[in-house]
Amino acid sequence: MLDGKLVLVTGASRGIGKAIALTLGGAGATIIGTATTEVGADNISKVFADKKISGKGIKLNVTNNEQISSLVKIVNEDFGPIDILINNAGIGHGIDGLDGLDVSLIQEAIDINVSSPIKLTAALLDSMKEQARGHIVNIGSVAGLHTLYSSLYGATKSAIHLFSQNLRAELHGTPIRVTEICPGRVSTGFFQAATGNEERLKALGHSGIKELTPTDIADAVLYALSAPAHVN
Ligand code: NAP
Repeated sequence: MLDGKLVLVTGASRGIGKAIALTLGGAGATIIGTATTEVGADNISKVFADKKISGKGIKLNVTNNEQISSLVKIVNEDFGPIDILINNAGIGHGIDGLDGLDVSLIQEAIDINVSSPIKLTAALLDSMKEQARGHIVNIGSVAGLHTLYSSLYGATKSAIHLFSQNLRAELHGTPIRVTEICPGRVSTGFFQAATGNEERLKALGHSGIKELTPTDIADAVLYALSAPAHVN
């Protein structure tokens, strides 16, 4: 379905991003998957090779402007222009409230969850316009749409919601599509990483919820990408 497409997936080392990379790679796309460390990037390349997926892992800290520019340059030289950007990398600082949150984490949450998807989009938009094709997929959250007692995380994801809505309007009349996927709770290591301890994790509550799987989200992304061009 995605033969000949070049896809950049941020945060492809684990969780939702990894599932998206494998699903889109399995559908024939070439995938550039990012991780924050060289080891993580090498692991992505190994997984792709095992699964006969075209592409590779590349190190990228999405908050680093120079790394963004050099990644775009390297990918352009080695693979060509990127057709599809999946802004997936994200963190859950303050997921269970602002109480006790180290203030330095507030800026980091905004940098990773808000500024970086916007910067990556801006870095690729001219080339997508030149190619007269492109698709930007932002992984938002239900926390960006509804009150979930998660003020910082909710603020970052609601910013992504209006970024996506406005970008779709800005690009009206071009062949570039914008999709926002807003998952509920997905079974990844996200909440453990965000809370850092079992007690706080437990307090967030799991009772009675059958969590989404990362593959459920990847399937939704694949649907959006493979829908006919007029479906935006
Ligand atoms: P996860 O398992 O914790 O994975 C997070 C990914 O983001 C990792 O690949 C990580 O890379 C990457 N990342 C973190 N900081 C980064 C940085 N500074 N630069 C580049 N990459 C960075 O989380 P997940 O559950 O898959 O979440 C993925 C996305 O879905 C996030 O945007 C999250 O907000 C959203 N979401 C999650 C849920 C949920 O319930 N899990 C629900 C709704 C929305 P490393 O491995 O290299 O650190």
